[in-house]
Amino acid sequence: MTELSIRQSIIDHCRGMNASGLNQGTSGNISVRLGDRMLITPSGIPYETMQPDMIASLPIAGNGDYDGPKKPSVEWPFHLDIMKARPDVGAVVHTHSTYATILAMAGKPIPACHYMIAAFGGPDVRIADYARYGTKALSDSVLRAMEGRSACLMANHGMIATGATLEKAMWAAVELETLSKQYYHTLLIGGPMILPDEEIVGVLQGFATYGLQDGKTGGKAA
Ligand code: 13P
Ligand code: ZN
Repeated sequence: MTELSIRQSIIDHCRGMNASGLNQGTSGNISVRLGDRMLITPSGIPYETMQPDMIASLPIAGNGDYDGPKKPSVEWPFHLDIMKARPDVGAVVHTHSTYATILAMAGKPIPACHYMIAAFGGPDVRIADYARYGTKALSDSVLRAMEGRSACLMANHGMIATGATLEKAMWAAVELETLSKQYYHTLLIGGPMILPDEEIVGVLQGFATYGLQDGKTGGKAA
């Protein structure tokens, strides 16, 4: 992919997440790793009017210095710190999606209420402690909440999902919002039954090969 097509793909995914209801207005932001740089949406620009040249480019080893005609998202600190700390992460999606944000506002981390919790790396999705948007303190609490996980909720704010590619990060954001919605609704009818930790370990092992269409058998029924 050329840098131009990655820039356009970031804008397409921003427009897609608003069109699908996963995000609204100029909330949320997206970044993608490109070599030793990070491309990130500009701050406060409506996605309908965003153009590829407005995407800011920051050195990952840097400290917020950027190239581009528009300021990067105010959340560049946590996007950059995730890229620095997690070489496996190729893209970061931040949204204020409704159900994930409701849980984050209510202080309810997501437990192992569905096997899909394993898609985020373990038996729960934690909530990053509240700190004001755009701060180093927010970035620090996000990194703590994401230890051993690929996603987190953010207290009184929203959620973050990551992936090796932008497509995978956006898939994870949609899955996290779906899980949040399901968990929220179980809370209305008495709360979920929780899966044991060892089951989540098994599911994680299964995910390593899930979807691989290799071989002629239907796989082993355990
Ligand atoms: P930006 O428009 O600067 O990306 O901010 C949106 C947001 O979600 C802040 O948390
Ligand atoms: Zn936000």
